[in-house]
Amino acid sequence: MRIRAFWEYISAKASYALSAKQVMALIMLVLGIFNTGLLVFHFAYAIYPMCAINAASVALYLFCYVKAKKGKKLLRIFNLSYAEIMIHAVASVLLLGVDSGFSLYIIAMLPLGYYASYNFSSEKRQVNPMFYVIVSIAAFCFARISGNYIEPPYSYGNKITDRTMYMVNFFVAVIAIVLFFSTLLNQIKFLESQRLYQNKKLEELSKTDSLTGLANRRSLQERYEDLSLIREGYAVIMGDIDDFKKVNDTYGHDAGDQTLKAVASVFKKAVRGEDIVCRWGGEEILVFLPRCPLGNAKNRAEDILKDIRGLDLRTKSGKRFHITMTLGVATSKEGADFTEVVKKADERLYDGKHNGKDQVV
Ligand code: GH3
Ligand code: MG
Ligand code: MG
Repeated sequence: MRIRAFWEYISAKASYALSAKQVMALIMLVLGIFNTGLLVFHFAYAIYPMCAINAASVALYLFCYVKAKKGKKLLRIFNLSYAEIMIHAVASVLLLGVDSGFSLYIIAMLPLGYYASYNFSSEKRQVNPMFYVIVSIAAFCFARISGNYIEPPYSYGNKITDRTMYMVNFFVAVIAIVLFFSTLLNQIKFLESQRLYQNKKLEELSKTDSLTGLANRRSLQERYEDLSLIREGYAVIMGDIDDFKKVNDTYGHDAGDQTLKAVASVFKKAVRGEDIVCRWGGEEILVFLPRCPLGNAKNRAEDILKDIRGLDLRTKSGKRFHITMTLGVATSKEGADFTEVVKKADERLYDGKHNGKDQVV
C-alpha cells in the first residue's frame, strides 16, 4: 500500500499534495542527512575543506529544518538552501574536479524555481522561476568551464572511489529530479482539481438564490433557451405572496425571510423532476413546467396554493400566522416567446390581486 502510494505520488497521480511546509521540512531533513554522510566520508579521506563545507551545510539544513517545520518564511528557507546547493556544487567542482559529479546537483535544481513560484508567490511578491533557472545555468556553466581549466587541488586518491563518488552524485541527482518534478506535477494537478471544484461551486452559487436555495433568473434563462423544450411547449406559473409587506411590518424582516423559505419549500415539493422553480423577484416565484398543458399547470398551481394556505408559520417569539398567495398561469401557446408568456401569467396574477387575492387565475 505504501509502495503504491509512493508510486502514485511520483507518477503525479496522487489525489493529495504535500503541503509546502511538509515538502520543505522533508527536503531539509534529507539534505541534512546526506551532508552528514558526505562530512564523514570527506573526513575519512582527509579532504578538510570539503569537511568544512559539509559541516556548514549540515548546520544550515538543521536550522532550515527547524524553521520549515514551523512553516514560517518558507521562501527565505528555500532561497538559503538553493544558494547553499549552488555554492556547494561549484566549490566541490573547483576542489575535486568536474568528474566528481557535484555539478549534477545544479541541474537537479531546475524544477525548483517553478515549485517556488507555485508555492511562495503572493499578491505582494511574485516569485519568478526564471530567476532560479538563470542562476542554475550560470552556476552550472561556471562550474563546468572553470572545472575544465583548473586542476583540482584535492582528490580521493583512487579511481574506484572517484567513480563511486560520481555514481552516488549521479543517482542522488536523478532521484532528486524525479522527486522534484513529481512534487511539482502533483502540486499543479492538485491546484487544477481545486480550481475545478471552486468553479463548480461558483457556478452553483451564481445559479441559486442564497436565501431560498431556488434557481435564480439567470439559471432559468439557460433552460428556456433550450429550443426542444420550446417546440414541445411549456407552462408558466407566476406566484406572488399576498400582503407580504404586512408580514414584514407586523412580524419583522426575519419572519419575512422564514416565510419565503417555507414558501420555497412548498414549491420545491410540488414540482416534477424537469420543472424549475425560480425566485423571480423579491417574493415572486416562477415555475417553468416543460411539456405541461394548461389544465395540468392550473391543477398544480391549485395544489401549491392549498399547501401555502396550510403553512403553519411562527415568529421567533412563537406567534402563529398564515399567508396566502395569488398565482397566474399561462402556456407557451399564449405568447410568441418566453417573455410574452411570463407577461401573460403576470397579467393574470394581477387580475387575481385585484379580484381579492388568494386564488389561481
Ligand atoms: P400584494 O398582495 O399586492 O403582493 O402586496 P405585497 O405587500 O406583497 O406587495 P409587494 O409585492 O409590492 O411587496 C413585496 C414586499 O416583499 C416588499 C419587500 O419588502 C418584501 N421583500 C422582498 N424581498 C424580500 C426578502 O428577501 N425578505 C423579506 N423579508 N422581504 C422581502
Ligand atoms: Mg406580494
Ligand atoms: Mg411582489
